[in-house]
Amino acid sequence: MRYSGFRVIAEALTGHKGWKPVWRDPAPQAEYDYIIVGGGGHGLATAYYLAKEFGQKRIAVIEKGYLGGGNVGRNTTIIRSNYLLDGNEPFYEFSLKLWEGLEQDFNYNAMVSQRGILNLIHSDAQRDAFTRRGNAMILNGADADLLDREQIRAMYPWLNFDDARFPIKGGLAQRRGGTVRHDAVAWGYARGADSRGVDLIQNCEVTGMRIENGKILGVETSRGFIGAKKVGVAVAGSSSRVMAHAGMRLPIESHVLQAFVSEGLKPLIDGVITFGAGHFYVSQSDKGGLVFGGDIDGYNTYAQRGNLPVIEDVAEGGMALMPAIGRARLLRTWGGVMDMSMDGSPFIDKTPVDGLYFNGGWCYGGFKATPASGWCFAHLMAKDAPHKVATAYRLDRFLKGKMIDEKGQGAQPNLH
Ligand SMILES: Cc1cc2nc3c(=O)[nH]c(=O)nc-3n(C[C@H](O)[C@H](O)[C@H](O)COP(=O)(O)OP(=O)(O)OC[C@H]3O[C@@H](n4cnc5c(N)ncnc54)[C@H](O)[C@@H]3O)c2cc1C
Repeated sequence: MRYSGFRVIAEALTGHKGWKPVWRDPAPQAEYDYIIVGGGGHGLATAYYLAKEFGQKRIAVIEKGYLGGGNVGRNTTIIRSNYLLDGNEPFYEFSLKLWEGLEQDFNYNAMVSQRGILNLIHSDAQRDAFTRRGNAMILNGADADLLDREQIRAMYPWLNFDDARFPIKGGLAQRRGGTVRHDAVAWGYARGADSRGVDLIQNCEVTGMRIENGKILGVETSRGFIGAKKVGVAVAGSSSRVMAHAGMRLPIESHVLQAFVSEGLKPLIDGVITFGAGHFYVSQSDKGGLVFGGDIDGYNTYAQRGNLPVIEDVAEGGMALMPAIGRARLLRTWGGVMDMSMDGSPFIDKTPVDGLYFNGGWCYGGFKATPASGWCFAHLMAKDAPHKVATAYRLDRFLKGKMIDEKGQGAQPNLH
């Protein structure tokens, strides 16, 4: 079923009786050409592009819970391509270009809103660093604008400019950045994949991998063994657990990251703002809630809930940046489990096991990467060669000293 304005009007006039389930609920088959483990944004996008762009068939996505129940439905919805390093910027710009055409591509309203993102500057050294990053972005075909204090004051007069511990000195803006309704991304890719014959198998946990003579034969699941010629793992915060079934240890730690939403307020923030002197970022949802977040909690965990010290830390960041936030009541908070890599950059790579591929290490920046990650992982699995914008995302980069340390922080997941 294709969605269109005419369809909405026709359904409204006929009592909405013609809408069909957006995807099937198939039983697992005995064998597939491709199994993607993980029905989050990255897994669903991989299956979609495998079918649509690379003409592959006999594909299944195996999800232990329900589609979109992981980080794809838990993040703070920000998309951008404001990176510095050559290993990253072309990949994230490719992703932003895919976001720009995504709703037409998969015929689903994902509320892609290019409302702009602004990284605030609080010191001269930070201005130098952000200028360099802006130039790197422009060299890679992205957009970047360096704004001075008065330009920012005209946009957001209620920010803490003068009477502040960290006065605002300017900002780096990417006007094509913005937000997307996160769960609609999972649903859009799921629907697009299903309509191309991909089996989306929910409530099916991968509990083991059958590997013989160095080759993958399929996966053991809570619903029995399912054979596959190729298996791609895209399970985000569960990466270390699932890859342990293949005997692999990853340069990844799992940490919890919390998100926050306030009560609905009148329109206040029309873009995304990040605080440059602490870890705090904020936007406003179309329903009026302020959506904000900060640091990971900083200890290893698989729990999808966080603790009060980080809530206090995030509240302090918010108060330092925009004191008015102190009047807003918090509506809800939740957590998601992040696959924090040691240099803050992801992996899209083959593994030493023939036919087994890995996608992970997204830290807390993987939502914006969803389209490019799916496309590049599908490319790798279909052609057995990396896509040209994802050649640096190798598992052996630590062995070879080729880290992609975007922030120059070293091997410290809590600083990425
Ligand atoms: C609070 C928060 C805020 C964030 N904010 C942003 C942001 O603003 N911008 C941004 O770019 N990124 C953000 N992120 C990061 C982003 O959400 C993730 O990097 C990204 O969603 C991870 O990829 P995914 O969607 O495939 O993961 P998930 O949706 O987590 O998908 C992985 C799936 O694998 C399944 N799975 C796990 N184990 C198994 C198994 N054994 N068998 C079968 N299935 C299994 C899980 O159930 C899950 O559904 C944020 C994350 C959080 C938690």
